[in-house]
Amino acid sequence: MSAFHREQVLSVKHWTDTLFSFTATRNSGFRFLNGQFAMIGLEVDGRPLLRAYSMASANHEEALEFFSIKVTDGPLTSRLQQIKEGDTILVGRKATGTLIADNLIAGKRLLLLSTGTGLAPFASLIKDPDIYDRFETIILVHGCRQVSELAYGEQLVATLSADELFGPLMAEQFIYYPTVTREPFRNRGRVTDLIASAQLFDDIGLPPLDLATDRIMLCGSPGMLEDLHVMLEQRGFVEGSHSEPGHFVIEKAFVER
Ligand SMILES: Cc1cc2nc3c(=O)[nH]c(=O)nc-3n(C[C@H](O)[C@H](O)[C@H](O)COP(=O)(O)OP(=O)(O)OC[C@H]3O[C@@H](n4cnc5c(N)ncnc54)[C@H](O)[C@@H]3O)c2cc1C
Repeated sequence: MSAFHREQVLSVKHWTDTLFSFTATRNSGFRFLNGQFAMIGLEVDGRPLLRAYSMASANHEEALEFFSIKVTDGPLTSRLQQIKEGDTILVGRKATGTLIADNLIAGKRLLLLSTGTGLAPFASLIKDPDIYDRFETIILVHGCRQVSELAYGEQLVATLSADELFGPLMAEQFIYYPTVTREPFRNRGRVTDLIASAQLFDDIGLPPLDLATDRIMLCGSPGMLEDLHVMLEQRGFVEGSHSEPGHFVIEKAFVER
């Protein structure tokens, strides 16, 4: 049995020169938990070229969705960015990852802190009705350099807010906080600084970070993850895993090669 499924691309949308998203068919045997990732890619010269990708779609959705970077000269994404409807992609049979609700101990607020394509696993999680049962408030923070890089997240939140099922849940329980570092915008600054200074909480009008109530998922650049990891541990938050749930969980949005 092959280690991956062959899926057909259903749609592709280019958001900026460096970001695109696409949807693909989903094999009925491909199961995953919201927040997980799988190896996906293309067949190149008869061999699979695969990279880790978070599913941006939820596990109750029929199609798969991915939110991708375009790396100039990147072995996979220099090719993947050229896919069109009807093309074939490879999707690994096994999904994995730490950004799952069961790796967190119970809490009241869930903070989903992301930069760049680190938004992808949270796109899946905020489409999971179970998350709205487990937590009273869900705060999605997405940090980018430029305003244009927020577009995928902005459209996702707008679509979900207009949805019959999710709209009422989101109106009650969901806060979206996009922030930009290199251009004027209503929210400015690095995610790490916004948490450290409590600016985020001032802006949304809620109490600052609290070990008793807050659970956190992190997905972003290696630098952002390192800084927040240190800060959270200094404040007594314990990292969770499959073997022992904790106050926060971390996944790299990419690896520096
Ligand atoms: C657990 C996990 C989940 C991931 N999920 C996603 C996802 O949902 N979407 C996605 O686009 N990528 C994701 N990645 C990164 C992905 O695996 C590839 O690195 C990316 O697709 C680029 O592939 P490449 O072969 O073109 O270049 P690579 O040789 O893989 O990367 C070249 C360089 O590009 C930079 N880079 C790679 N990926 C990114 C990125 N996403 N954002 C900013 N810089 C990057 C890094 O500096 C890297 O050293 C994930 C990585 C991990 C470890």
